[in-house]
Amino acid sequence: MEHVDLADLHMHSHFSDGQWSPAQLVASAKGHRLRAIALTDHDTVAGIEEAALAGRAAGIEVLVGVEISTWLDADVHLLGYGFDPEHAGVATLLASARTSRAARAELICDRLNEMGVPVSMQEILDQAAGGAIGRPHVARALVEGGHVHSFREAFDVYLGDGKPACVEKARVEPAVAIQVIHEAGGAAVAAHPGFYGGTEFLEPLVAAGLDGVEVRHGLHDEVTAREFEDFARAGGLVCTGGSDFHGPGPGRAGVGTVTIPYEWVEDLLERAAAHRAASGTRRRV
Ligand code: AMP
Ligand code: ZN
Ligand code: FE
Ligand code: FE
Repeated sequence: MEHVDLADLHMHSHFSDGQWSPAQLVASAKGHRLRAIALTDHDTVAGIEEAALAGRAAGIEVLVGVEISTWLDADVHLLGYGFDPEHAGVATLLASARTSRAARAELICDRLNEMGVPVSMQEILDQAAGGAIGRPHVARALVEGGHVHSFREAFDVYLGDGKPACVEKARVEPAVAIQVIHEAGGAAVAAHPGFYGGTEFLEPLVAAGLDGVEVRHGLHDEVTAREFEDFARAGGLVCTGGSDFHGPGPGRAGVGTVTIPYEWVEDLLERAAAHRAASGTRRRV
């Protein structure tokens, strides 16, 4: 089957807070006839191998990817692409992020218990099933325990930013994450910037060597996407985009619902290649 020249470069598997396996994501991408995807789990590359194998079998290009939580006055997500997933610097950074996610989940559980919500740490850990643990796992545990009616209510009442059981994550600086991605031969992209504010908040990231901006995302309307695209092009940055798929459900964008032209993937991989040449890292895409 011929593919269309489109790519979806943002999605999560059950190795972080997504609900599908990497192989299921690849199968869905094949159903949408995508040419390329990237698996961008939160703070882990554990699903990359399965995604790459499935991609090879399905004839879909699977880029190495990750979504790293950093802190710049607030939670800021950075996407890394085309890096060596076995690079020691990346492994150390992600391992430390996962350790602090586990500790934070305990704090979130304590807060909920103090608020009279009797969810247990074991119920939360069961939802994460050994993957990088996040608020969506807590939300699913709350739904299963009958403490809220829906995933949405869990975030609206307890877990969303600024809500009583939202605990901040460890403070990795974006500049540090960008540097580590570069050292591992990859390109660094600001995820869903419209969620955080206007283009001005990108300035310090650009100063730290940011390669690209995720201009197409379900949280961006057309005007926002255009504004970020203009900003990226004017600054010589590449543009990316993707569905940020976490699993099927009401109001959730599916794989392939937000796409970019394949040429944007080539531009992105060119940036990664430049960092790889500078760092002497071998190619692993
Ligand atoms: P964490 O990495 O633990 O901070 O959780 C962040 C994830 O929670 C995001 O990737 C989303 O999948 C989800 N999330 C964050 N805020 C909301 C919200 N208000 N409603 C639904 N899901 C959310
Ligand atoms: Zn997520
Ligand atoms: Fe994100
Ligand atoms: Fe995401």
